[in-house]
Amino acid sequence: VENATPRRRVLLKLSGEVFGGGAVGVDPATVRGIAEQIAAVYDQVEVAVVVGGGNFFRGAELSKAGMDRSRADYIGMLGTVMNALALQDFLEQSGQPTRVQTAIGMAQVAEPYIPLRAIRHMEKSRVVIFGAGAGMPFFSTDTVCAQRALEVGADMVLMGKSGVDGVYTADPQKDPNAEKLDRLTYTEALHRNIRVMDQTAMTMCNDNGLDMRVFGMEAEGNVTRALLGEEIGTLVTP
Ligand code: UDP
Repeated sequence: VENATPRRRVLLKLSGEVFGGGAVGVDPATVRGIAEQIAAVYDQVEVAVVVGGGNFFRGAELSKAGMDRSRADYIGMLGTVMNALALQDFLEQSGQPTRVQTAIGMAQVAEPYIPLRAIRHMEKSRVVIFGAGAGMPFFSTDTVCAQRALEVGADMVLMGKSGVDGVYTADPQKDPNAEKLDRLTYTEALHRNIRVMDQTAMTMCNDNGLDMRVFGMEAEGNVTRALLGEEIGTLVTP
């Protein structure tokens, strides 16, 4: 069914931490909860998801422990694919048609990353999950999120965070005087050395006029709220 007026299209970033519920691996109950919140709005907004992999491996950490950085980063990217498949499973169980596209070829479990095809999936109300990052070492899934959002023409990036519900003036876990900001610019975030998302991602969004909402995953229903465009968390703009 074609829509007369195009729907909002968003790129949701879920970091690996979100999948693990704080531990290594995938916490099924947590992923199911997120999937149900996405499935609840499938006919109102077009959704693509970039998944992180920090709940399995981070290349930089493996490399500090003595591994070759590039190979460690590939291990990190493969971790994101496990998250992608877990999310796909719970989305499908929630009645939400889903496609996984990976930046590293793995024909048995995912399509290759084909941007026009991803757009077509979204137009058909399928959620597209992008796995394996950019397929390139030395990148982060935050950066991939900005790049994919730009390439598939998303109206906005939604950064789902665990442990923090927006951008603060300082790290709220370390500084009791830290205050939450309703909005700020990428330039301010970069100057203040805000660490809730990586700087390459912010620069890319800033240079290309893409808004980002940073929100907390903990509060119940927040994913649905963010997908529907409610003003939760912090809005970061060029
Ligand atoms: N990674 C990479 N290239 C990419 C995306 C990810 O090399 O384009 C690797 C990198 O080692 C990273 C790991 O995959 O540490 C997991 O991704 P990330 O740390 O971004 O996940 P998150 O912090 O969101 O859980």
